[in-house]
Amino acid sequence: MRCLVTGVAGFIGSHLAERLIELGHEVLGVDRFADYYARDIKEGNLDRLRGEPRFSLATVDLATADLRRLLSDREVIFHQAAQAGVRPSWGLSFEGYLHDNVLATQRLLEAARTHGQVRKLVYASSSSVYGDTEEVPMHESSRTAPHSPYGVTKLAGEHLCELYRRNFGLPTVSLRYFTVYGPRQRPDMAFHRFISAILRGETVRMHGDGEQTRDFTYVSDAVQANVAAMEGAAVGVFNIGGGSRVSLNDALGMLGEIAGPARVERGEPQAGDVRHTWADTAAAQAALRYVPRVPLREGLAAQVAWQKRMLAPSR
Ligand code: NAD
Repeated sequence: MRCLVTGVAGFIGSHLAERLIELGHEVLGVDRFADYYARDIKEGNLDRLRGEPRFSLATVDLATADLRRLLSDREVIFHQAAQAGVRPSWGLSFEGYLHDNVLATQRLLEAARTHGQVRKLVYASSSSVYGDTEEVPMHESSRTAPHSPYGVTKLAGEHLCELYRRNFGLPTVSLRYFTVYGPRQRPDMAFHRFISAILRGETVRMHGDGEQTRDFTYVSDAVQANVAAMEGAAVGVFNIGGGSRVSLNDALGMLGEIAGPARVERGEPQAGDVRHTWADTAAAQAALRYVPRVPLREGLAAQVAWQKRMLAPSR
């Protein structure tokens, strides 16, 4: 297939593009190298892809570029690009979230519908669309009530996908990822920060009492869900969880065993953070044959090994 992967220099997009190349597909990657975290890290994410003859890169902003030209011969679109991060989505930076998460998604959908050859558009949605609820596990039919401006924009993107599917027959699939982790995880995410502090001998700063739970999903499982969404006939919205729902305290205990003991300082919970996430993945299992494969301990060990390499002086 001729694929377009947006957000290709990011955490999940770079892994997805590598897997697609491995499977024999051709990938045009798009990224605007947003400065939310260091460009060097994103360039590093692309290291393995750069030498691939079936990979090419367009450094453009989806919210302003001529997308029809970009899409001209693309059969499958994986839309991973977004301004991620719950906590910074308040205040003035919301404009950036609208630009990257809503406007960019609408422009991509519009270009895809008028272009005619797109067999599937897979959208990276988020568990943040559910908000702060005690109703767990979360089903695709559960109420959506985002608890952060970020979640509002991710839900808006998902609604746009559904609109283009219902009105114009564009085959869209929205995958609601639940906290993805593994090598290349964004530096603002909890595991990345925890591991980095442990390896540097610094204090781990945790927001809240640590009893909040997350359904952690290893990155290769999220990637596999995308591949299945491309290959199968299913359309619509699916939860993609990792089957490893644990509290942050338990995850930190596991990290202590893998990377070394942690000195923890607990602070106030942050605005926008939810108490629990837990995915019901029955729909994804039935429609996409999605089964998470990587248990938390194994996934954490892989992330720790990667962060150790990142910190090594020879790098
Ligand atoms: P990331 O920040 O590492 O990658 C996103 C990439 O998109 C960045 O490289 C950025 O430069 C690019 N980008 C942003 N706006 C763009 C634009 N207008 N034009 C072109 N490129 C643009 O984030 P990630 O963690 O890999 O997340 C990937 C996707 O998955 C996002 O849509 C995010 O909302 C979603 N998601 C991630 C998680 C998670 O746990 N990481 C959970 C739920 C949903």
